[in-house]
Amino acid sequence: MTLPPRRLAILGATGSIGTQAIEVVRGLRARGEPFEIKVLAAGRRVEELSSLAREFQVELVCVAGPEEAARARALLPKGITVVCGPEGLMQAAAWPGVDLVLNALVGARGLRATLAALEAGKTLALANKESLVVGGELVLAASRPGQIIPVDSEHAALMQLFSGVRREELARAWITASGGPFRDRRPEELWEVTPEQALAHPTWRMGPRITVDSATLVNKAFEVIEARYLFGLEWEEIGVVLHPQSIVHALLELSDGSLLAQLAPPDMRIPIRAALVHPARLPPPPARLTLPRLSLSFFELPRDRFPAFWAVLEAGRKGGTAPAAANAADEVLVDAFLSRRIPFPTIAEGIEEVLSRHSPAPCELSAVEEADAWAREEARRFVERKAGPT
Ligand code: MG
Repeated sequence: MTLPPRRLAILGATGSIGTQAIEVVRGLRARGEPFEIKVLAAGRRVEELSSLAREFQVELVCVAGPEEAARARALLPKGITVVCGPEGLMQAAAWPGVDLVLNALVGARGLRATLAALEAGKTLALANKESLVVGGELVLAASRPGQIIPVDSEHAALMQLFSGVRREELARAWITASGGPFRDRRPEELWEVTPEQALAHPTWRMGPRITVDSATLVNKAFEVIEARYLFGLEWEEIGVVLHPQSIVHALLELSDGSLLAQLAPPDMRIPIRAALVHPARLPPPPARLTLPRLSLSFFELPRDRFPAFWAVLEAGRKGGTAPAAANAADEVLVDAFLSRRIPFPTIAEGIEEVLSRHSPAPCELSAVEEADAWAREEARRFVERKAGPT
């Protein structure tokens, strides 16, 4: 079976998801599927981006700033438009020749691109989870049903599971968490863990920030917030269960006690590919499970562990600008941990402290961006108090 033509924009093309998406597109094109990449956006890896732009003969390239744009123009043929910065990113997200936008940007700046793509009527394959975390209400208001296809593995799983279930049959939706590299460590041991250990995720291959967020479980709190907006669930209808193997990505618990589960190897190419070919299913699978070798275990998420998870979840429940503040604080604190300025448990402490000082405002774009800037500054001050000035 061949799909109808798909013209893509890939935002965040040189990051972990973007790189895997390009690998997926190469595979689909090699099978004769009519996939074209018309727009590529990335920050500072201009050489890498330019070589991709040539390979796919794109129409538009977006880079971080004017300096990167000058370098890109020198490397690219005249016919390729080069733009830069936040304005450029919005142009990239709304480019007329595109029907499917993969938003694989990292961080809250992905929100404006998400809104631009939705407002321009594009189908949005959403890997930038901050869009829904910091601006869930805005994103919902800007989108029509079915316009957003989640790329996060848990949400891609939920979407598949929900397609066979009526809303009134649902008792609870569950997403799984591997627990990250420190799942079995005692809390006092966490003061000694290094960035290298935090970046060695047991099951997933991902970018640095999300890998640390998987060790604190901040990522899982974000995913609960995402699930709420994507599927219109109440907080009580979303559960998190520890599952070290990362094979079951989500489950639906139904009113009669049945559990439906989605299983797949922990390989992001699977949900990326599913989003790009949605609603079709195409062979070959990027990776497959061997059923007789599977051994699956599940554990309750302990209440007294992963304090950052509970803090961010609480921010999600408060709503308004609270999740934006949580996200911005986390970004600064994760950076400080990765540059060895603060120990691992101080990430959670910093998030709790910044949130305790935040008075949430209603979720509007300007308020979200103000909360983001405010929380960044608060988190920077917190890091300086803990670690001393740089
Ligand atoms: Mg995930």
